[in-house]
Amino acid sequence: MTIGIWVLGDQLWNEQSALHSCQQNYQNTPVILIESLSYVQQKRYHRQKLVFIWSAMRHFAEELRQQGWPVSYETADDFETPLQAWVTKNTITELRVMTPNDRPFAEIIGNLKLNCQITFIPNNHFLWSESDFKTWAKSQKRLIMENFYRVGRKRFNSLMAGNKPIGGKWNFDKQNRKPPKRNLNPPDALWFEPDPITQEVINSVNAQNFPSYGKTEPFRWAVNRHQALQVLDFFIHHRLPNFGPYQDAMVTNEDTMWHSLISPYLNIGLLQPEEVIKAVENAYHQNQLDLSSTEGFIRQVLGWREYMHGIYIYMNPDYSQSNWFNHTQPLPDFYWHAQKTDMNCLRQILSQVERTSYAHHIQRLMVLSNFALIVGVSPQSIEEWFHGAFIDAHDWVMQTNVIGMGQFADGGILASKPYAASANYINKMSDYCSSCGYNPRKRTGQGACPFNFLYWDFLCRHRDQLKAQGRMSLVLSHIDKISDQDIQQIHEEAFRWRKRQST
Ligand code: FAD
Ligand code: SF4
Repeated sequence: MTIGIWVLGDQLWNEQSALHSCQQNYQNTPVILIESLSYVQQKRYHRQKLVFIWSAMRHFAEELRQQGWPVSYETADDFETPLQAWVTKNTITELRVMTPNDRPFAEIIGNLKLNCQITFIPNNHFLWSESDFKTWAKSQKRLIMENFYRVGRKRFNSLMAGNKPIGGKWNFDKQNRKPPKRNLNPPDALWFEPDPITQEVINSVNAQNFPSYGKTEPFRWAVNRHQALQVLDFFIHHRLPNFGPYQDAMVTNEDTMWHSLISPYLNIGLLQPEEVIKAVENAYHQNQLDLSSTEGFIRQVLGWREYMHGIYIYMNPDYSQSNWFNHTQPLPDFYWHAQKTDMNCLRQILSQVERTSYAHHIQRLMVLSNFALIVGVSPQSIEEWFHGAFIDAHDWVMQTNVIGMGQFADGGILASKPYAASANYINKMSDYCSSCGYNPRKRTGQGACPFNFLYWDFLCRHRDQLKAQGRMSLVLSHIDKISDQDIQQIHEEAFRWRKRQST
């Protein structure tokens, strides 16, 4: 009996469960990694995302070879053909794969016709296993992130003083999330020049005729564990001390602010959540770092990331089709072509995504996703765009962040109110409006910012549905202060704006 292991593109670390299960006999365990060209032709992906995943796979294959694993690396049209040839050549009787993070990929594997048994080894990519999360979720009336996070802090003994949170509070949000002030000077991020392996992938992506998006170069992401650890270390020393205060601020030409940029690496296994949390906590103790920044960051990884993954595995697969507002507008074309919009906030952020395949959380939530929500774009269309455009996007993290948090398409399972906002929010939290041709203070009429009439149009259209969301009462009550004539104008301008987009 010969066991073989298929390592998927987001399972690139030595201790992943399938590799771990054969570590005793690694020299006699064939391993395969496959780049499938037809798989990436089903959707439009950012070119840097393709380069990132394939380069990281090639680097990891090389590392496994150096450790003595017999590794095959295939570039093929589909998965089945190279798998079957490799199974036959190595007389493999059992193919082991760590259970994929993404449901659609598990289905692809389930439908393969191979001459051997396929065994899924339970996934160990997250701190919370599927069964642990389900046990927690079943014990709750509502799946509230803050409650989950506190249980996680205790369970993993993170920033705890005995049974109490260090500093006496679980949450330091009040000290964080400040609007940007003038002359903010975030440190440069740590980037890398492409090595020969990455350069080869860049050349091959440039040569292929994919339905892709974005610029391949400059490509500056880390592509192996060694570099990813450097990014983590750099973040801890240069960015973490000021991570908290300006976490939500958006500044022109400052793509990354004080953010960590580690999600691409965490999501494909180059970094592990536990080591990230421990390294940050150690730095807090050793360097007397600010507690609000430290806690603010740990909440992202131990709280939000684990919670979003947990909800994904807890919900039925049809969660991805949720559409509580019944939104059906197509995605405005400028999401794929930043230069086609004259709205400065969107143009700045969309250009940044074309250049880097990255935007930070508030740019994603309060500009890109918020705008799609108030326009009434179908949640599945905006999800598909995020999935293709972002370097760190995978099915598990898209469903919850875009369908649930960003679009409120699950009707409030995940968020207690929709993240919908007018230009007022963007004007407060960014410097974009000061260089925009639209007026963030005008609701309708010449030069009015589209975020404004679309926001009020959204609230009016869904008023009855939103009434049931307690946290919306105050906002909805403002509708009554607007005259009927103004409401009419809001609807007309919103209608005309949508019409222009679809012609
Ligand atoms: P930091 O701000 O430095 O945060 C640290 C880490 O916390 C991140 O690296 C990430 O691993 C984790 N984290 C924080 N919030 C979340 C969250 N809501 N869900 C999951 N992990 C979280 N995250 C992705 O990993 N991939 C995505 O494709 C993605 N798409 C998003 C789309 C929308 C509409 C929204 C609202 C959020 C999305 N997020 C996504 C969550 C979050 O915005 C990114 O994880 C974060 O911006 C990544 O940048 P960073 O590493 O610099 O994060
Ligand atoms: Fe964006 Fe409106 Fe501000 Fe222009 S005025 S940057 S469109 S929010």
